[in-house]
Order: sequence, then C-alpha cells, then structure tokens
Amino acid sequence: MDIHEYQAKELLSNFGVPIPRGIVAYTPDQAVYCAREIGGNRWVIKAQIHSGGRGQAGGVRITTSEHEVHAAAADLLGRRLVTKQTGPQGKLVQRLYIEAAVPIAKELYVGFVLDRRAERICVVATPEGGMEIEEIAAQSPGSLLRVVIEPAVGMQGFQARELCFGLGLEAPQIPDATRAVIGAYRAFRDLDATMVEINPLAVTADGRVLALDAKMTFDDNALFRRPNVRELRDYTEEDPREADASKFGLNYVGLDGQIGCIVNGAGLAMATMDMIKLAGAEPANFLDVGGGASPERVAAAFRLVLSDPRVKVVLVNIFAGINRCDWIAQGVVQAARDQHISVPIVARLAGTNVDEGRRILSESGLHIIPAESLADAARKAVAALGDDVRAGAGSAQAAR
Ligand code: GDP
Ligand code: MN
Repeated sequence: MDIHEYQAKELLSNFGVPIPRGIVAYTPDQAVYCAREIGGNRWVIKAQIHSGGRGQAGGVRITTSEHEVHAAAADLLGRRLVTKQTGPQGKLVQRLYIEAAVPIAKELYVGFVLDRRAERICVVATPEGGMEIEEIAAQSPGSLLRVVIEPAVGMQGFQARELCFGLGLEAPQIPDATRAVIGAYRAFRDLDATMVEINPLAVTADGRVLALDAKMTFDDNALFRRPNVRELRDYTEEDPREADASKFGLNYVGLDGQIGCIVNGAGLAMATMDMIKLAGAEPANFLDVGGGASPERVAAAFRLVLSDPRVKVVLVNIFAGINRCDWIAQGVVQAARDQHISVPIVARLAGTNVDEGRRILSESGLHIIPAESLADAARKAVAALGDDVRAGAGSAQAAR
C-alpha cells in the first residue's frame, strides 16, 4: 500500500525526521488559509498523488504571495497530472500540500528498501538527490552508498553518521541528518514498511537538514496490525479493479488482454494465463479466488472481472480441493443471473463435488461452454473470443 507525501511526512516526523511546516488543502481558499497559518512569504504548493516525478510534471510550485498560492492551487486541483510514473492517463489531483518553502543548498537522496537476498533492511543514499533513483543509478552508479542493517541490533548511530559523512555533510549538520536517517529507519521497521524514500533530503542555505519529499510503501500483509497506517489508504489512487478486489479478499491483478480468468490458487492462475497465451490470446486479469470460496465470493469475482470492458470471454478454471465445485457453480450462476452476462463463459471444473457443480451449470439455462482439461478450456476460450470479436469488432473497438 502506498500513501501520500503529506501522510508519509507526518509519520516520519513522529519518528524525529525533521520536515518543513506544512498543511494539506482541498480547495484554493483552504490553500491560502494554510499559507497564512504557516507564515513566512514563500510557500511550495505540492500536488498529492501517488507518484514521483511531480516536480518535472509541473506538480510542485513555488509561490511568493497569497494570490499566487490561490492561483497555483486553482490550477492544480482537478487537473490530471501526467508524470513519468503515472502512464499517459495521469492522476487526478484532489489534495494539495502547502509547505513553507526553504532555500535549498543541496539535495541528497536517502532510501530504505528490503533487500530480500540479504534478508535485511538496506539503506541506499547518494549526494546526487533530486532526480529519481533509477536515473541516479544509471548516470552515476559510483555515487551510491549502501548500508545493510543487522536486524538483531537495528541501525547503529555510527552507521548513520558514517552515511551522513559519506554524503558530504558538514559537522554542524551531522546531528540533524543522523536523526533523520535513524528516524526513517525506525519508521520503516516499526510500521512494517517495504520502502521509505526521502528525496530530496535537503541541506538548506542556512545549514538545516530537512526532508522535503517523502514516500512510503507498506507491506499489505501487515496492515491488519497497523490500523493507523491502514486508514491512510486512498482508494481513489489505486486501480479501481484492484481496490474492489481487495475489499472481497480476492487476489486480483488487472492486465490488458480480453479473456477474464476466475481461478483458484495462484499457481493454477499462472498456469491458466500461460495456457491462454499458448492458445494465442492474452488474459485480461489474474484472479485467484482462494481456497474455500463461497458462492458470494465467486459472484463478487465474476462482477469484478465483468466490470472490465476489455473482457470478451470469461474462463472459469477451478480445481476444487478445499473449494467445492458446487459452490463455485452456484456463484457463477448467481453472478450470471444478476448481471445478464452477454459474453461467452467457458468453465472447467475438477475435484470435490465436480458432478454436482457441472449439473448446476448445465441446468442453469445459461450458455456455458464446458471444458475437460486446462488446455481444452484455454482453446475453447480463445475460439469463443474469435467468434465474439468477429461478430462485434466495431463495438469492441468503440468500447475501449
Ligand atoms: P517529486 O518530483 O514528485 O519527487 O516531488 P518533490 O517533492 O521531490 O519536489 C521536486 C523538487 O521541487 C525538489 O527536488 C526540489 O528541487 C523542489 N522543491 C520541493 N520543495 C521545495 C522547497 O521547499 N523549496 C525549494 N526551493 N524547492 C523545493
Ligand atoms: Mn522527490
């Protein structure tokens, strides 16, 4: 799960990371009140979207009067900001962060990631901050500093100081910078993050060290024990298909093909996607309904898959061990009735209560194409796709 910059800053600041004064605003008038409350005469107006590269895309504005604050806020709110990371459709700006602008002398990069091979939290830092880490790594790989943290003892003061000296910081800045680094490490560890990035960690013209940008990503599997983190989730920033799925506990990843898949088990889902490709088409999604899927959950999965206008055929492939084919079949029928499904459905059921499952499907009166094996199911789905696309090529194009 990702969060917004202003949320990450608030969390990090609770761990002692120094940040400039800032307030979130939802309207241009609020932005002006915020600027007034923050005080001073220079403010940064920052678009809050789940993406980096906002600066280059015009999502970060320096303003020097209340009038400019209002104008920048009015211009940014409601705009779709297209950055290198958003894709061409961009992301809608619904919130702004208003911050006291600081005079920057130097921009550093400090990032924390999980190094899965080392099984350790790892710090990556470079004095060449400001750009995205991928660019830094490509342009000046020699500037990258890397520190691996021993989990039994945590990040040590000497490691943080060594890193800060390595970044070229001067003695008077070391205490603040060390506090920022150790604070970010503790936030990473104590909040079950998978990534913390401060870019830039700025040295100001008057010698202070401040986190000017912050990004945090959290381990979804740990959110159950971090309710204060979980409530920072902004569903409007996520692929709506994936956000819906997570509400039903379904494991869903949206893709670009035309065959919607409803499968149980991640391995079977991968195999199904492979077989679809082998048969000459592309899957529209990866969807694992999991073990013990109730008819309601299967129906939810169906609704989700069909809500994607790309889907021209649905392939149901269930190997029921813990699951029961009759429940799956009931879910399929329930969803098909509710939604007046017009696309062909290919179903391959195997395992527990398979005869009952097949009977439910065949007596439902729905047009469901039965399949025997996985390969058979994939071939039939692709064949059905062929018919459908030939019949409605024009409307299919228009729907995209
Ligand atoms: P990103 O482009 O999405 O990573 O957004 P950032 O928050 O990193 O902002 C991009 C750039 O804007 C930074 O690298 C800084 O150069 C600049 N910037 C951000 N905050 C301030 C500030 O308070 N003062 C000044 N002068 N520049 C800032
Ligand atoms: Mn940044």
